[in-house]
Amino acid sequence: MNRRSRVAPVSRRYVDRMAVKRTKSARAARKRKRRMDRVEHDLTPVQWSALQEAWGGCAYCGAADVPLQRDCVLAISRGGRYTLDNIAPACRSCNASKCNEEVTHWLRRTKRDERAFLVRHYEIGRAMTERFPQAPDDDHEGDEVADDVDA
Ligand SMILES: [Zn+2]
Repeated sequence: MNRRSRVAPVSRRYVDRMAVKRTKSARAARKRKRRMDRVEHDLTPVQWSALQEAWGGCAYCGAADVPLQRDCVLAISRGGRYTLDNIAPACRSCNASKCNEEVTHWLRRTKRDERAFLVRHYEIGRAMTERFPQAPDDDHEGDEVADDVDA
């Protein structure tokens, strides 16, 4: 009897803490979603044209005169974003084949020219950064990290 009354408050406190955690994670998730919705439109039409022009075709196989799609070099599911330095024009076939695979792994596995891609990606990335200087980041990443650690 004595034992039970000592245990009860502890488990109640635990439940309270779990409730707080769920709320905090939910808030962080909503915040992340809002941010992702926003960055999805980070690339302006002018920037996208400049990228296609710089690559002159599919970034992975060089195919020209085919419709090009926006491929995230680092897949969104791996933490990549729709930003100028993470988008490369890709033909439908390369885009579908690469899917969410890690880019260098995929290039090697499908016998594409890994080195040529990495060199051009680096050079074009630099040229793009010069042409379109990044606006200051208005996100407060620190807040979110603190939230996550705290929870
Ligand atoms: Zn291609």
